[in-house]
Amino acid sequence: MSILNQKTIKKSIKFVGIGLHSGKKVEMILLPAQPNTGIIFKRSDLKNHNLVYTSIFNVSKSSYCTKLSNDHGVTVSTVEHLMAALYGLGIDNLLVELNSEELPILDGSAKNFVEKIEKIGFKISDQPIRVIKINKKITYVDNEKFITFEPNKISLEIDFEIKYKQNSILNQRNKKNIYMDNLKDIYYSRTFCLFEDVEKLKKMGLAQGGSLKNAIVLRGNEILNDEKLRNSKEFVNHKILDCLGDIYLAGYRMVGKITSSQGGHNVTNQGLRELFSNNDNFTIVELKEKNIPHSFLVKNTLKYIA
Ligand SMILES: [Zn+2]
Repeated sequence: MSILNQKTIKKSIKFVGIGLHSGKKVEMILLPAQPNTGIIFKRSDLKNHNLVYTSIFNVSKSSYCTKLSNDHGVTVSTVEHLMAALYGLGIDNLLVELNSEELPILDGSAKNFVEKIEKIGFKISDQPIRVIKINKKITYVDNEKFITFEPNKISLEIDFEIKYKQNSILNQRNKKNIYMDNLKDIYYSRTFCLFEDVEKLKKMGLAQGGSLKNAIVLRGNEILNDEKLRNSKEFVNHKILDCLGDIYLAGYRMVGKITSSQGGHNVTNQGLRELFSNNDNFTIVELKEKNIPHSFLVKNTLKYIA
């Protein structure tokens, strides 16, 4: 069976936790899905209109997290870390049932999602995967923030940079080749916030479930958590994780080169909207093994067999 065929998980997987922003307890079950389903969310606490589809056009809020809404105002929040795990692991089809409005934040990274999915294993279908190939350079600029999508031969490269005036340890840049590099540092990197923003966020009704268990908190350049950094570029690596999850809302994985400075959920979503506003900007390609360089196949075959 081709490793370039669509994949789902072998068996269902349950996660229990709290929502970072809602503070509400949530039970989430990942269920295997048929080929060509994509990733679908289902609010099991609601009887009607409870399906929310992944689409960049269903993003209804993109400050501090990514929230999806359907036409009936039913929402699911903070989808980005799970979506990034699914992207990196090559999960094409999945039903995600949750009994609250927000996904569990767990430790603030994608570590738990990746570990449980890898442990359960993959079910490979007989249907080929499709990818989005970037045809033209597209840039979205918001003052000092920007994101650029450019054509690339076979891989997806993400080059991300963050800059903060008061917190110099947050000034980081990293570049990852998503299909070739080991993504452990990306998956394990936790969300972060500044100590001075905690009260402000809580007053805005956000971060109600936030704690040192699920976010790195910085006072000046000091890390307040007992667990110090998991890797030397944890801050920017988390931004790459967010970016990857937000990109997967486009429906397929991508072949291209992404460069972003000081971006985040909103900049990524606006950039994607720009990209998909014109059919000449991209092509949806069905992947055939004969068109793929040997190195890509060997690397990915090892990844799925290992
Ligand atoms: Zn995040």
